[in-house]
Amino acid sequence: MVASDGARCAAHPSAPAAEVCVRCGTFVCRACRCLDIKSDSYCPACYARLDRRSTASKFAFIAAVAGFLGLGCFPLGLVAAVCGVIDLVRIASGSSPTGGKMLSTVGLLLGLAGLGLGAILVAQNLGGNPSRFDLP
Ligand SMILES: [Zn+2]
Ligand SMILES: [Zn+2]
Repeated sequence: MVASDGARCAAHPSAPAAEVCVRCGTFVCRACRCLDIKSDSYCPACYARLDRRSTASKFAFIAAVAGFLGLGCFPLGLVAAVCGVIDLVRIASGSSPTGGKMLSTVGLLLGLAGLGLGAILVAQNLGGNPSRFDLP
């Protein structure tokens, strides 16, 4: 959206407004204007809020949450590892926000750790529980 003639930037009264924030309608000059990935214009305050909200895709959140839960319930570790890999690939190709990189990496590592723990538990159950077969 382009500001009408004569409008001034909310932060710089001496600068003519170049755009209007699509979220709150504040006039912003060229220096203040923040563009998101879809080229919508935001004022710095709204952009900061927007940025915090969209720093990670839902894959990254699922990976991180499932990664933590996967430490106690290892099938979720597989979910975390898969979601982590999906998000890291999407980040690399530019279709996921880069802020999710940390969460996805943590989710992936926790997921792998959960799977490792799960594998140890399964191995112990298989090897250390032969009494089942010794019952008369
Ligand atoms: Zn705004
Ligand atoms: Zn300004």
